[in-house]
Parts: sequence; structure tokens; C-alpha cells
Amino acid sequence: MTKFVFVTGGVVSSLGKGIASASLAALLESRGLKVTLIKLDPYINVDPGTMSPFQHGEVFVTDDGAETDLDLGHYERFIETRMKKTNNFTTGKIYQSVLEKERRGDYLGKTVQVIPHVTNEIQEFIQRGAGIGTADAVDVAIVEIGGTVGDIESLPFLEAVRQMSLRLGPNSSAFVHLSYLPWIATAGELKTKPTQHTAKELRAIGIQADVLLCRADRRIPDEERAKISLFSNVPEWGVISMWDVDTIYKVPRMLHEQGLDGLICDKLRINTPPAQLKRWDDLVYEVEHPQNTVKIAMVGKYVDLSDSYKSLNEALRHAGMKSHARVQIEYIDSETINPGNVGKTLGAFDAILVPGGFGKRGIEGKICAARFAREQKVPYLGICLGMQVATIEYARHVAGLKDANSTEFEPDTPHPVIALITEWKDADGSIQQRSASSDLGGTMRLGSQSSDVADGTLAHQIYGPVVTERHRHRYEANVNYLDQLRQAGLVISALTQREQLTEIVELPQKVHPWYVGVQFHPEFKSTPWDGHPLFNAYVRAALAHQAATSDNRKPVAA
Ligand code: GLN
Repeated sequence: MTKFVFVTGGVVSSLGKGIASASLAALLESRGLKVTLIKLDPYINVDPGTMSPFQHGEVFVTDDGAETDLDLGHYERFIETRMKKTNNFTTGKIYQSVLEKERRGDYLGKTVQVIPHVTNEIQEFIQRGAGIGTADAVDVAIVEIGGTVGDIESLPFLEAVRQMSLRLGPNSSAFVHLSYLPWIATAGELKTKPTQHTAKELRAIGIQADVLLCRADRRIPDEERAKISLFSNVPEWGVISMWDVDTIYKVPRMLHEQGLDGLICDKLRINTPPAQLKRWDDLVYEVEHPQNTVKIAMVGKYVDLSDSYKSLNEALRHAGMKSHARVQIEYIDSETINPGNVGKTLGAFDAILVPGGFGKRGIEGKICAARFAREQKVPYLGICLGMQVATIEYARHVAGLKDANSTEFEPDTPHPVIALITEWKDADGSIQQRSASSDLGGTMRLGSQSSDVADGTLAHQIYGPVVTERHRHRYEANVNYLDQLRQAGLVISALTQREQLTEIVELPQKVHPWYVGVQFHPEFKSTPWDGHPLFNAYVRAALAHQAATSDNRKPVAA
């Protein structure tokens, strides 16, 4: 029977609830259990797909095409179970479903209310996420509830899990609450009061925490732990310290050493072999013992918020570890780049990356960066928008298609080398229509798709004959220009199996050592264990470029 761990947060947000949940899941998985994680988000958007990265950080995409909270990225990087549409839902999605049922008449004339209709719906979604009633049912589902206790928005979720725990009966669920202890420098003390309050707030809703994960900038002394235990009604061994660390991969061991996984297994009456932490220890060793450093310029728009490129940052770091290198990423605002300063701005990097993005702002700077990388033979990786930018740049400056552009940025461009395709077949064979005025939610090419990779290409060396990666974009390389681009020397190295859409472009290796643009988002599939073949190859190319140019490395004049 599936057991549940409900993870809630108190005091403030951004304490690392996602990492804590993922770490617990990893510990349980290492004990041989089948585990999944489910994220509940209290906001009213149906999913984060239409939210700005400034609001919500990265939108993570699953194989089955769900646009989800970035915590699902942590989940996939920490555990083996792959996330699906059913692993993340919001208040908006719950209400959407309740309202559909109401319109269909499923409630048989009853007054539809938060309790029980919304809370029941939440419980059904949780059960679906845990795979209950299917072959995918897990041993333990860890349910992370977004927001902080005390928010009006998250109340129905907390009420739903309280009811669920009651319904499941004893030893079937556990509550973990993440709290915060501020260090007051003038007093020289860690303060326990906010934690006392948040545990009390939780009790007022009817939830008694079994574990308090106490975030602080330092380890919490036993005296304070005893005090918290007394006031919060959590046994002392359940008061666990979670201090700041320099790498998130240290968190599983930190929690294990204080007995978190043992405590949860006891509470849920689960008998397993002990947790295995060798792979985590090896990982931390690798993080702490790099032999080289590579400097990568990430030329993007959302540079002030590194959460916008969470998976990408992680993928680059994973690839670094595979090459025993520390990857130093410098974010460069593409709006500040122009032909006059590009050499000075990008000249000292080992590689250039243009990540995904939406909208016109900063596009010309990205085109400039792609041109610089091509002409100066600096390794270039263009992801999604970064591939489109590379294609536009090549069209303009090599294929002679003056003012080539994407119709996303210039609807009347004379050469729409990137454009919307207006009709489109989905995985289930249904035809989707897309136009510039379509609803923003739900008009994208989303999720996993396969394409054939052409023999003899760099992409083929990296991926082999087939590439399967995840997508999240609206525009495509315009098939009407492919021949012209090919004649001008651009290699189209992968096309989708179904629609023959461009998936990978590259430059021949005799022209440029490493220049690749991909229409998909490879970063979503990188794990700390294996890295990712494309990023691994990119970081190796950056190291090779560094070795080849280290003697005469200085900013290049434009
Ligand atoms: N804006 C581009 C499109 O919609 C690229 C999207 C992206 O980079 N994820 O096609």
C-alpha cells in the first residue's frame, strides 16, 4: 500500500523545500523503495507555462509535455522515477477540474464547496500522482505543498492532506515541516521563536509535524533543538538541523546522518535495508575536486535571476563534473551586446551559450553573440531560441538573406527563416492549429519527441542515430529555406520523424570545431550521475578551446 509524506513550509519561502523533499525521496529510493514526488502549487494559474521566468523561475518540462514547477527538475535530478503531468498541480487546475464536473452535472445538484468538493479533488489528484490503482503505484509518495503555512491560498491543500492522513489511518502518512531559524548577530543567537509559531500554526489547522527540518545558516545546537522540541511537540530526534551548504548534493547525507530516513521509515512502519549514500559521496567529491575551470558566457535575457535557467546551470555543472572541471557561468544581458563591443565582452570565454527565451527584447545581441562564436571559432551551443538565433545569423551573414528573421520578432520580415507552422499533428494523431493569435497556454510543441540524426555529423557522434529530447516552443525553422541554408553550408543534422521539422543545426567540423544549435531543451534530461551527452561534449569542446588558445587569450577587437 502506498504511504505518504507531506512536506509543508513555514516562516518564509525559498528555504529549499524542494531540495529537502528530493533528498528525502533519494534516501528512501536508496533503501530500495519505489518513490515519487508530487508538487502542489497554491497559485491560480492552471500551470506555470504562461508565467514570466521573473515570477516563477524556470518552467520545467516533462516527457509527457507538462509545463511544471522547477522543483520537478530537482526531483528528476535526485531520483530515478520520471515525472509526469500528474506530478504537479495548482489551485487553478483543481478548480478547472471541479468546474468541469459541476458543468457536467456530476455533483447531482449539490452546492459545490471548498470542503468537501475541492478538498476531495485535491486528494484524488494526489492519489493519481502516486499512481494508486495502476501498475505504477509507488511505495512512498512525497507530497510537497508550495507556499508557507498561514497563507490563505494554501489552506485548502493543508486541509486536504489533513483529511487524507486521517482517512489513511495510522502509520500511513507522516508530516515534515520546514522552518527557519534566523541568526541574530547582535545577540549572537539563533532564534527559535518563528519555528515555535509556525509549528503552532500548523497544529491550529490540525496537523502535528513528525519532523521539523530547521533551516539556518549554521548547525543548530542541541540546546535549541531541545527547546524547539518542547514548544512544538515534536520529539527531539525529529528536530533536524539543515544548515547552509555549498552544494545541494550534500543535503541527502546531512539529513541521513541525523536519522531522517530512519525516522520516516519507523513512522510509516516500513522495513528496508539501510540507505546507500556512496553515489552521493562520490558526487560531492567530484564537485569539490575539480582539476580545471571553464568559463562559459550565457547570453540571455533573464540574467538577473539564475532560477530562470536552473536546469541549464545544473546540466553545465554535471557536464563539468564528467570532465573534472568546474564550470563558471557568467550571465551576460544580451541587450548590452552590439557589434562594437562583442569582442570585448565575449573574447575571454571558453564557450558561448544562448539559452531559450521568448520575445523580441535582446535578440540582436544574441545574433551578435552567435556571429562572434561562428567567426572566432568559439564553441557555441544554442538552445531552442539559441538555435533559432544561430539560423537567423547564418541566413543573414552567410546565405545572403538580408534582414532574415523570425516572425516572432519581425512579422513582416522578407525572409522568415524561423516561423510558425500553422498546422500540426500531435502524438495522438489529432491536428493542432497554431497561429500568432492563438491562446498562449497550450499552443506549443511540448514534451518528448524523437528525430533521426544524419550520419557523419557532430550530432551523430554525440547522440547516435536517434535523438529523443523535450520541447517547449512555438516557432520552427522554416522548411522553405532549408535548401538555401544547406547550400550556404549549414548542416541540418536532425529532423523530426513525424513532421520533418529541424531539430539540430551545426557547422561542419572542418569549418568550426564545435557549433551546434538544438530546437529542444536537452537540459531537462541531464542528471548528476551521467551528465548529458550534448553538454558533456560541449564542455569538452570548451576545454579544448581553452587549451588551444590559452597562450594568446585576450579580448578580441570587433
Ligand atoms: N521563442 C521561441 C519559440 O517560441 C523559442 C522558445 C524557447 O527558447 N523555449 O519558438
